[in-house]
Amino acid sequence: MDKRAGNIVLYGMILGAVFGVVGGYYFVGLFESISFLGTMFLNALKMVVVPLIMASMIVGVASLGNVGKLGRTAGKTILYYLVTTGVSVFIGLVVVNLFRPGDGVEAFGAFIPDLVADSKEKTLIDVLVGLIPPNIFAAAAETRVLPLIVFSLLFGGVLVSIGEKGKPVLAFFEGVNTAIMKLVTLIIYFAPVGVMALIGGIVAKNRETLDQLASGLGWYALTVIVGLAVHAVVILPLLLWFFGKKRPLKYFVNMGQALTTAFTTASSSATLPITMESVEEKNKIDPRAASFVLPLGATINMDGTALYEAVAAMFIAQIYGIDLSVGQQMIVFLTATLASVGAAGIPHAGTVTMVFVLAAVGLPLEGIGLIWAIDWFLDRCRTTVNVWGDSIGAAVIAQTREIKNNSCQVPD
Ligand code: ASP
Repeated sequence: MDKRAGNIVLYGMILGAVFGVVGGYYFVGLFESISFLGTMFLNALKMVVVPLIMASMIVGVASLGNVGKLGRTAGKTILYYLVTTGVSVFIGLVVVNLFRPGDGVEAFGAFIPDLVADSKEKTLIDVLVGLIPPNIFAAAAETRVLPLIVFSLLFGGVLVSIGEKGKPVLAFFEGVNTAIMKLVTLIIYFAPVGVMALIGGIVAKNRETLDQLASGLGWYALTVIVGLAVHAVVILPLLLWFFGKKRPLKYFVNMGQALTTAFTTASSSATLPITMESVEEKNKIDPRAASFVLPLGATINMDGTALYEAVAAMFIAQIYGIDLSVGQQMIVFLTATLASVGAAGIPHAGTVTMVFVLAAVGLPLEGIGLIWAIDWFLDRCRTTVNVWGDSIGAAVIAQTREIKNNSCQVPD
């Protein structure tokens, strides 16, 4: 997509979002009836996610050339994920201790939402076991992204090692990758309407909780938002500038379509096609870094989610009048980081994995019911930060020696 068209689409998306909010609030019936357009847009994005992840990762990994480089790149990528996630949780803990949004709030209406109850038996071990899919087609059919990534990583690595025989297979996936990216560009043209319909539908549906945003839970929502803002506006841009060698404002504007989509869909995975387009085409990040860092990041690097989980857990503790010691807050720090890694890039996933955090410090799971009413909104905010963090990770990794000095493109 050329620059001019890209800008027009971006303005269209922002206008669409504004129309969606206003329209969804005042014309509930109308926006409920056109919300199917949003579903179509979301489905179009989800439609390309599986082939995109597989093709781009296989090509990206193979183009790194050898297992040693892959190992070092993977190591640096994971380090970036962990450090940024850790910093964001730390910011969350500082902000929530300063603001203390839960003090004096009544614990009325506590309950365990169905989504949470359904998966409360899950442990982090289950997440680990789930990394290896017994059936790769079943994983693809259910859009379980993490197992697909693991498979693609191994497959791409092996392809290079088998020499001549691997080349046609690699060429095939290169073709698939290019074609899918082209499809993504086409889908983006529909984004303004998709965004309007999705936001309109969600505002129409959650209209009554908007009051709660302004009142009871407002202080808590503000705490999350301030934390997210510090991380997204100060920490991440500094990293981008120092290590990624990019101008943050320009990078941010170029990410506009992806960030708007993240806010609209509340799903890092569904946003992934647009994130890849924005990072590679608009911000001109080396595809070898992007195709590796972004799919992996969309499922395991969630700065916003981790921060949110820490703030939410502390908020619940404050409501119940439970004072968590520094040691217990360390446990919140660790479990929130891990729980964000375990959360899938889909709506509300972070709220579900928060069970780990609450259980680790002995807080009642019913506390989740207290914050559930406005989760639809905070989910959007944290997903936007998640995607922003991934995109900056791609820029940072693109500057590492393995990628920069790697003249070894896909072997021919
Ligand atoms: N919705 C988030 C994402 O897709 C995950 C979460 O619930 O925090 O990035």
